[in-house]
Amino acid sequence: MRILVTGGAGFIGSHLTDRFLDEGHDVICMDNLLTGRTDNVSAHFGNPKFRFINYDVTEYIHVEGPLDYILHFASPASPADFERLGIRILKVGALGTHKTLGLARAKGAKFLLASTSETYGDPLVHPQSEDYWGNVNPIGIRGVYDEAKRFAESMTMAYNRLHDIDTRIVRIFNTYGPRMRRDDGRAIPNFITQAMAGRDVTVYGDGSQTRSIGFVSDLVEGIRLLMDSTVNTPVNIGNPTEFSMTKLAETIIDYTGSNSKIVYQDLPEDDPKIRLPDITKAKRELGWVPTIAPADGLRRTIEWFKSEIA
Ligand code: UDP
Repeated sequence: MRILVTGGAGFIGSHLTDRFLDEGHDVICMDNLLTGRTDNVSAHFGNPKFRFINYDVTEYIHVEGPLDYILHFASPASPADFERLGIRILKVGALGTHKTLGLARAKGAKFLLASTSETYGDPLVHPQSEDYWGNVNPIGIRGVYDEAKRFAESMTMAYNRLHDIDTRIVRIFNTYGPRMRRDDGRAIPNFITQAMAGRDVTVYGDGSQTRSIGFVSDLVEGIRLLMDSTVNTPVNIGNPTEFSMTKLAETIIDYTGSNSKIVYQDLPEDDPKIRLPDITKAKRELGWVPTIAPADGLRRTIEWFKSEIA
C-alpha cells in the first residue's frame, strides 16, 4: 500500500510510520515540524519506501500518485500547547481535516482521524464509552483542542455519509512511550525529566485527578486493527488502568530511583477530574486489548528518556 501519515514526525505518527514501513508499505510522512521532530523518523531517511514532506496540511495538499490510506495525526496535542498554539490547533483540526478528507476523496483512500478522549471534556459519565457526548467548555483554554477534534469528527462523518469515503475515528486516551518530547509539558515527560534530574516533581491541583495511561505500541496495534475493520463510528483506544496524578508521580519517582519531592501547583482551567476508557467496543469489534501494563511501559519509557540524555 501507499500510505500518507500527517503529523508523521510526531510522537504517535512516527510510531505508525515505523509500523507501516515494517509491514513493507510505502509511507509518505507529512509534517510541518511545529511539534514533530525529524529525529523521530531520521532512521528512514534514504529508505526508498519512505518520503518526508515538510508541509502544513491546513493548506491545499497535493500528493502525486495513488494513496490507499490517509491517517490524519497532525496536531499539537499537549495541554501545555493549548494557549501558545490555540489558533494553529483549531486550524489543523478544522482546515487540516477538511484538506486531508478532500485528498482521501480524490484518491479513493481509506481515512483515519486521530481523535481524542478530550471529546468527552470533563466527563460526567465514568468510564467513558463512545456513546457519551461529553462535557466540553467551548470557550475555555482546552476548547481549542476539544472543539477542533469534535469538529473533525463531524467533518469525517459528513464525508463518510455525503461522499461515501471509508472513514475511521480513533479516540485516543493518554498515550505515552519513547519519542515523547522532554519539554512536551504533559504529566509523564514532566515527571520523568524532573525525577531524573532530582528536581521537584510538579503535580497540578491536589493530585487526585485521574488519567488512564496506554503504551504507544498498544495504541498502534489498535489503530492497525481499526484500519482493517469496517467500523466507521468512533472507537476508544486506551488502557483502563486509572491512576491519580499523585500516584503516577510517586510511581515515576520510585522507578527512576529518584529522591525528588512532589510539589503541588495550581490546577489548569477545565482540567478533567477523571478519565477512564470503556474499551468494550474495541474488544468486541476489533478483538483488541492492551498488553503492556503501566509498570512495564513506564520502565521502558524511563529507559528511553535516560538514553536520550546520555
Ligand atoms: N499534570 C501534573 N503535572 C505536570 C503536568 C501535568 O500534575 O507537570 C496533570 C494535569 O494537570 C492533568 C494530568 O496531569 O491533570 C494529565 O495531564 P497531561 O498534560 O499529561 O494531559 P491531559 O490528560 O490533561 O490531556
